[in-house]
Amino acid sequence: MSFKENLEKIKKDIEKYSPYPEKVKIVAVSKYSDVDVIENFILENKEEKTIILGENKAQIIKEKIEYFKDKKEKIEWHFIGNLQKNKVKYIINDIDLIHSVNKLNLAEEINKRAEKIGRIVDVLLEINIGGEESKQGYDLTLLEKDIEEYKKFKNINIIGLMTMAPLGSDEETQKKVFKKLKLLKDEFNKKYFDNKLVELSMGMSEDYRIALEEGSTIIRIGRKLFIN
Ligand SMILES: *Cc1c(COP(=O)(O)O)cnc(C)c1O
Repeated sequence: MSFKENLEKIKKDIEKYSPYPEKVKIVAVSKYSDVDVIENFILENKEEKTIILGENKAQIIKEKIEYFKDKKEKIEWHFIGNLQKNKVKYIINDIDLIHSVNKLNLAEEINKRAEKIGRIVDVLLEINIGGEESKQGYDLTLLEKDIEEYKKFKNINIIGLMTMAPLGSDEETQKKVFKKLKLLKDEFNKKYFDNKLVELSMGMSEDYRIALEEGSTIIRIGRKLFIN
């Protein structure tokens, strides 16, 4: 299959499974691929208005952004991995969305660096819904304790929530996790965010159809686009 066919297949699934396909964006997770492979991916899909690329390592996304800087108009860059505080500086200038704010001190650092360069950076809060089996994301009790602090950050703009279903979990668990994130977004919108949360980043190659059914607005697809 070609990259273009892979993308078409995902788009068909969005029409089929999402209650609001027009809202759904695909992050093409390019972390498995070198720049020449990504270049081919972009070339094959050149009639797309925008291509969103997702990476999970700060230094690598920085290098790739630099490599593709002549395609700035075409590519949106999303950071999806666990972000260490001391690496925020690598991505702060060019990142379009950080999916993985999972600690208060990380948010503080992003806010501080964004302020320094006069940017407001869009972010998502990454939530640990799966509990023990999920390695990443905010513990809900902790987040509720921190949440008032987020109002102080003038240079980050929280536009939604992100989660991952536990690795290798069954469909029933995936469904439960995604449903819960959707409910949480609705609850947070009422309690804290005045309906400013619009995005739900959930669903990867193995579980994106279920995530779409449960209302995902951003699916993050790596293997099904770049490898299959
Ligand atoms: C790698 C990765 C993905 C994509 O995973 P695939 O299973 O290859 O689709 C999505 N989200 C995050 C956070 C990742 O690290």
